[in-house]
Amino acid sequence: MDTPTFRRWGHELIDWVADYQEQVEERPVLSPVKPGQIRAAVPAEPPLQAEAMEKIIEDFQEIILPGITHWNHPRFFAYFPANNSGPSILAELLSAALGVNGMVWQSSPAATELEEVVMDWLRQMLQLPPDFRGVIQDTASTATIAALLCAREKISAFGVNEQGFAAGAGQGTLRIYTSTEGHSSIEKGAKIAGFGRQNVVRVPVDDTYAMDPVALRRCVARDKGAGYRPAGVVATVGTTSSTALDSLPAIAGVAREFDLWLHVDAALAGSAAILPEKRWILDGIEQADSFVFNPHKWLFTNFDCSAFFCRHPELLIQVFAITPEYLKTAQDMEVTNYRDWGIQLGRRFRALKLWFVIRNFGVQGLQARLRRHLDWAREFADWVEADPLFELLAPVPLNTVCFRLNPGPATHGSVVEEETLTALNQRLMREVNDSGRIFFTHTRLGERFCLRLSIGQTRTERRHVLDAWQAIRHSAVVQDVAGR
Ligand SMILES: *Cc1c(COP(=O)(O)O)cnc(C)c1O
Repeated sequence: MDTPTFRRWGHELIDWVADYQEQVEERPVLSPVKPGQIRAAVPAEPPLQAEAMEKIIEDFQEIILPGITHWNHPRFFAYFPANNSGPSILAELLSAALGVNGMVWQSSPAATELEEVVMDWLRQMLQLPPDFRGVIQDTASTATIAALLCAREKISAFGVNEQGFAAGAGQGTLRIYTSTEGHSSIEKGAKIAGFGRQNVVRVPVDDTYAMDPVALRRCVARDKGAGYRPAGVVATVGTTSSTALDSLPAIAGVAREFDLWLHVDAALAGSAAILPEKRWILDGIEQADSFVFNPHKWLFTNFDCSAFFCRHPELLIQVFAITPEYLKTAQDMEVTNYRDWGIQLGRRFRALKLWFVIRNFGVQGLQARLRRHLDWAREFADWVEADPLFELLAPVPLNTVCFRLNPGPATHGSVVEEETLTALNQRLMREVNDSGRIFFTHTRLGERFCLRLSIGQTRTERRHVLDAWQAIRHSAVVQDVAGR
């Protein structure tokens, strides 16, 4: 592609992106396509001859766009937010243009040093302890694997790194602890790091769905007595189902007593800690060994950008460092080589988008937007509580509301069976989502099927949250009338 052509299409596509952002609201949130539909519309073999950009972009609009679920739609309330913003998209464009591979300092000094600076900005914004050092990972899943590997190497005195699993043979099986609400990435990480998923002990939760620290202590002590070797605990600040908040001071107490690596998974909720009035969710973080949260979820920085902090960078580096001759540089003693801070050698220049976002919003701008999301979640929860057809199923400390339609006790005076309620709520969710107006998803808390609304998109306004409630309520009323 020559420069004039690039310039022309570059301008055209920036205009397209600007229009998309402005008009995304008019599109259905959830893609209506059927499985296989997009694949069938794209040639199975690659083109031998060059194709014109006109044609490629036309196909993008006609074939690809219908198969997009619009994560940045203001009425996207599913899963968790994966928001973006103008400054983040522009920085991503520059990062692509530079095409930097920031594997070592020398391979792009600015990529490394800006990453050090913006990670320290985040450290200050979340009021993390001064001895925490940060690195950007692709996802929280990867950061958690890094933490689990640290736990493994700490307890084996780097024996598994050197000798493989033979190192610990005969000394008892290693175990990891997390709550029954802990994220699936912990189990996946335990499979990858060699703990085995059966050695992820699921600690019971209390009635707010937070880990019960007394039960944690009991599990660890029991395992120790039975010859296991407890290696680490993953506490969750903001569980995926209901943003339940594990108590870090209580869990840290157990970690200290049994010398466990304490990793804190705050993938979604960590962003809320930039608010002084919500910083308490990280009380006790100074006792953690590692911590992860995702600016790519709820800090207006597009995927991927996961912030991983470690209190012992020297240990982290010892877990990952390998220096072949061709990667040695004269500056190795004075600089950070981020390739030694995680699994990847090659690394994208992701610090750039955080730098653009934090500067262009300002910390106060970021805080103001998060506050609105929290206010609307509270307001939505109030609507649910005030409505006799609905019930709230978990506390709402942050941006996520777990609730369900339950006309039973209120309207009929009899308890409707769980299975009936599940079917009722599944039907409601399908109906509302199929309308294309909003998109929200579900979870399970204990035995109960929950509808779940997660508020956090950049362009969401109060009116969109109100739309969601009206769409959900309308469907409920129709079902309730039909059901009598
Ligand atoms: C979303 C989420 C994850 C997984 O995040 P990825 O960055 O997609 O790996 C892990 N833990 C919690 C609590 C989450 O909410």
